[in-house]
Amino acid sequence: MNRVRKGDLVEVISGNDRGVRGQIQRVLPTKQRVVVQGVRIVKKHQRRTPGVRTQTGIIEFEAPIHASNVMPVCPACDKAVRVGYAVQANGTKVRVCRACEGILD
Ligand SMILES: [Zn+2]
Repeated sequence: MNRVRKGDLVEVISGNDRGVRGQIQRVLPTKQRVVVQGVRIVKKHQRRTPGVRTQTGIIEFEAPIHASNVMPVCPACDKAVRVGYAVQANGTKVRVCRACEGILD
């Protein structure tokens, strides 16, 4: 079970975008990285590739950042929180906020 998932609202806790909140758009589990909306916008000079129809010129997009640099935001606490785990009565494992014990899933 991953600490953060696609669609989660997270806060960046280090780097140039520290304190910025955004939704996770993509998770790269093998690289332990996530793409967060509005975080680490990079410019890329995209050359035209013969035969491939793609956006060219100077393009801006969100680059992946390491998953350890983000923390989920608890809806109850409205803060970036550490994640714990709990098993519910029906046997499903859920993520919980370690500050308020509220369920994050
Ligand atoms: Zn909480």
